[in-house]
Amino acid sequence: MSNVKAHETKHTFTEIVEDPEHEQRSASAEFERNRKQLIITDRHGCFVCELLNLPPSPHPLEAHHFLCEWSEWNDADGSKMQRVFDLGVFDFYGYSKKLQGCDVKSPDDIRNLVILCMKHHRASGIGIHDTTAPLWFSQSVAKDGIDILEGSDEV
Ligand SMILES: [Zn+2]
Repeated sequence: MSNVKAHETKHTFTEIVEDPEHEQRSASAEFERNRKQLIITDRHGCFVCELLNLPPSPHPLEAHHFLCEWSEWNDADGSKMQRVFDLGVFDFYGYSKKLQGCDVKSPDDIRNLVILCMKHHRASGIGIHDTTAPLWFSQSVAKDGIDILEGSDEV
């Protein structure tokens, strides 16, 4: 028996990001190659939807830069990224194991990408770009029919 009833908690915070100087983003050949590898060749769907056994998203799938945002690459230490990948903690698709010990030379490295639907990528209050990591991950293990995050399906 629980002594705290279900309730809604609202989090409001401001995140101030110090983006390093960088080129205007355009999809690199490496990004396109790795995105196609994961979506078309390996046939991965949205990481969250697949864990929740949701039907395939009607929206195009997108590749999210997971450990290091593309815009933060100029402030990132590739050897530290490699160390995290080598630990296998975020090895979504097995590429960290396959590329164990290989340098990370670009944010578009396949080990740094996770496939998401538009909702779980960019939707207000739900997508990885618009919520905190603990709650974003929690929604991927929610019981059937439970929405941990209240947000918009609009992107
Ligand atoms: Zn999804």
